[in-house]
Amino acid sequence: MSGIVIIGGGIQGLSIAFNLARLGAGNIRVLDAGYFQGGASGRNGTLIRGGFGSPEWTSLFAHSNRLWADLSATLGENVMFTPRGYLIIAQSPAMMARLEGMVSLHRAHGLDAVLLTPAEVKALEPAIAAAGILGAIHLRDGGVAPHHAAMKAYLAASRRLGVTVEYGRPVTAIEQVGGLICAVMTGDERIACETLVIAAGAYSVDVGALAGIEVPGFPMRIEAMALEPVRPILRSAIALPDRLCYLHQTARGEIVGGAEVAERPQVTLRSDIAALAATARAYAEVFPCLASLRILRQWAGMLHATQDWGPLIGRHPDLANLWLSAGWSYGFAGAPAAGDLLARAILRDDLDARLKPFAVDRFRRGAPVREGSIVLAPVE
Ligand SMILES: Cc1cc2nc3c(=O)[nH]c(=O)nc-3n(C[C@H](O)[C@H](O)[C@H](O)COP(=O)(O)OP(=O)(O)OC[C@H]3O[C@@H](n4cnc5c(N)ncnc54)[C@H](O)[C@@H]3O)c2cc1C
Repeated sequence: MSGIVIIGGGIQGLSIAFNLARLGAGNIRVLDAGYFQGGASGRNGTLIRGGFGSPEWTSLFAHSNRLWADLSATLGENVMFTPRGYLIIAQSPAMMARLEGMVSLHRAHGLDAVLLTPAEVKALEPAIAAAGILGAIHLRDGGVAPHHAAMKAYLAASRRLGVTVEYGRPVTAIEQVGGLICAVMTGDERIACETLVIAAGAYSVDVGALAGIEVPGFPMRIEAMALEPVRPILRSAIALPDRLCYLHQTARGEIVGGAEVAERPQVTLRSDIAALAATARAYAEVFPCLASLRILRQWAGMLHATQDWGPLIGRHPDLANLWLSAGWSYGFAGAPAAGDLLARAILRDDLDARLKPFAVDRFRRGAPVREGSIVLAPVE
């Protein structure tokens, strides 16, 4: 019996698989080329927020933030989500004006958002150097969840519902008949499918090419680093969009985050000195007490970047049984909503309004989504 094949066992593929199974779909197979957590889903900063600069991003991510709050109960596994709050801090008048415009948007989407004065930011985060801080949005329901906990939870919950998830199983060919996908090849095995989902992260462009389709965007490296564990210093998850920097303190006490540097499209898991130096500089300026801490480790992960940094979610316009959940730059935070809404779209042919702006063909139609609060560097 042919069923649903999902290419990619990162958090997107697992969330889609779990939600499909929860809605009653059977015979779901997730095939991943690498090892469990080997993709971006095991390498990210783990920050979660519902509020962004645009209504499109906010409506999708606010839904996701709410799902994160109940995710441990939904999955029957502890994802360790802690709603410690998420601060988006302005260091320029332009960013402050943007944040002032965003707070009502966030509240209209049910988020617990307030504007903070510089003194209130300092009271919340005493380690911050107040000079140059103009204010912040405090998303009190944002937070963090360690990726190992979230990934293990999605994997266990999916398997419990009968999903077959296999790592070390690269998809090397995709077959079509009469404008429909009919099978994929992995190793010597041909797997027939009625529905195919591409959730292959940075490799979604290459996987799309196997199906003869052009997936917009390109692979891009993002780097992060961890400082040695120390007593509690930071309460919130923190983004500094003016410095293209984000950070938080883990339950173990490590300071984890990064500052983005301009990148060219490339595939590499090597980390380098430019990102390390930019991160160290941003930390030392904004949180001077971090300057004396030792760097424990630095690492890189691969994203699938799109022209507007937004995800590509939905049915492919030319192949009726091919779906995508790709192009994610905030795909850890967005995974619960993407899985929930895409599974409903696939099984019930019911495309939720929150997914429509992120349609796979939006660049072809000249309809990118403009989002002004993300912490990503321009592409070289
Ligand atoms: C340093 C860093 C920091 C980040 N910080 C955050 C953050 O704080 N918050 C946030 O929301 N997001 C963050 N992100 C982004 C987030 O990690 C990604 O958007 C998200 O993990 C994407 O999930 P995914 O499942 O689409 O991709 P992945 O986790 O990369 O999974 C894709 C999978 O597809 C598999 N695959 C590829 N080709 C094939 C093939 N031919 N056949 C079978 N399988 C294949 C790969 O092996 C891989 O496991 C960060 C990313 C990085 C790198």
